Amino acid sequence: MNILVFLETSEGKIKKTSLEAMAYAHGMNGVTTAIVLGKADAGDLQTLGKYGAAKVLHAADTKLDEPIIQVYSSVLAHAMQDEKADVLLLANSSLGTPVAAKVAIKLGASFASNVTELPDTSSGFTVKRSIYTGKAFAFVELTGAKKVITLKKNAAELKETGGNAPVVNYTVPLNEADFNTKILKTEKATGDILLPEAEIVVSGGRGMKGPEHWGILEDLAKALHAATGCSKPVSDMGWRPHHEHVGQTGVKVAPQLYIAVGISGAIQHLAGVNSSKCIVVINKDADAPFFKAADYGIVGDAFEVVPKLTQAILASK
Ligand SMILES: Cc1cc2nc3c(=O)[nH]c(=O)nc-3n(C[C@H](O)[C@H](O)[C@H](O)COP(=O)(O)OP(=O)(O)OC[C@H]3O[C@@H](n4cnc5c(N)ncnc54)[C@H](O)[C@@H]3O)c2cc1C
Repeated sequence: MNILVFLETSEGKIKKTSLEAMAYAHGMNGVTTAIVLGKADAGDLQTLGKYGAAKVLHAADTKLDEPIIQVYSSVLAHAMQDEKADVLLLANSSLGTPVAAKVAIKLGASFASNVTELPDTSSGFTVKRSIYTGKAFAFVELTGAKKVITLKKNAAELKETGGNAPVVNYTVPLNEADFNTKILKTEKATGDILLPEAEIVVSGGRGMKGPEHWGILEDLAKALHAATGCSKPVSDMGWRPHHEHVGQTGVKVAPQLYIAVGISGAIQHLAGVNSSKCIVVINKDADAPFFKAADYGIVGDAFEVVPKLTQAILASK
C-alpha cells in the first residue's frame, strides 16, 4: 500500500500533529511518502526519514507559502496520482480537514475525518472516527480504491522508526484559478503559544473569582511553558479574551497536559478538553464533576494550591 502523508508547517517548522500522522502511517505497514508544501525548515525535512518516510517531496514554490485550501488540495490530488498513492493521511485541523475533503472529491476517494485508530483491514478497510465532540465513535468502511483520512490529535504516539529519506524537489503546475482566495494577513490571537496547538494548557474557571486573580495562573503557565485557557462564563464576563474560551462552543484543545483550576467540569467544557492526554483538576469541591474526567485531582483552594505548585515546578527545574 502506498501512503502519502501531508505535513503541515507553522513558520516552516513541521507540526507535531503531522508527525503523529507519520506514526499512524508507519502502523499501516505501507510505503510512506511525506509531502510538505511551501516554506519548510531544511532540518525538519531531513528528520522525516526517522519518522518512517521512504521519500520526502518538497514543493517549495513560494506561491505555496500561504495555506490556501483550493491550491493545497489541487497539489495533493496531483501528488496522489504521481505517487500512485492509495491513501492520503493528514492531521485533523482547520487546514487538513477541508483540504482532505476537497482532495477526496477531486479523486472520487472515500473519506473519513477525525480517525482515532489504525484501520481494521481483516475484511475491507474500516476506521474508527470520533464523533459528537468525542462523546461517541463511528465505525466507517472505506470502499473506494483511494482513501483520504484525517487523524485526530493524540491518536498516534510519535515514534522514530526509520532512517534517512531523500528530500526531492516536487514541482506541479499550479492552477491560477485556485488562487481566487487570498490570505491578506494572519494575526495570532494569543501570545507565543497558540491554545489549539499547546502541549500544556492552564485553564481557569469562575472559581478564580475575578480577572485580578489570573496572575497566579499566568505564573503557573509561564513555569510550564503553557498556554492559558478559560471556561465560557469567564470569557462571557470579560475576565479573559474570547479566544481563550475552551469547550463545545469555544476552542477544542488536545494537549499532553490540561490543568483545570476552579472549573466545575460541565459537559460543554469537557467536550473541548476530552482529547487531552492527562487532565489535572484543582477544585475546592470534592464533588465537582470534573474530578470524574481527571487523571489527577487536587481538592483544595486554588489560591493556596496554585502558587505552591508553581513554586515546586520552578524549584524542580
Ligand atoms: C449551549 C451551551 C454551550 C456551552 N458551551 C460552553 C463551553 O464551550 N465552554 C464552557 O466552559 N462552558 C460552556 N457552557 C457553560 C457550561 O454549561 C458551564 O456553565 C460552565 O462551563 C461553568 O463554568 P465554570 O466551571 O467556570 O463555573 P462554575 O460552574 O461556577 O464552577 C466554578 C467551580 O469553581 C470551584 N471553585 C470555587 N472557588 C474555588 C477555589 N477558591 N478554589 C478552587 N475551586 C474553586 C467550584 O467548586 C466550582 O466547581 C455552555 C453552556 C451551554 C448551555
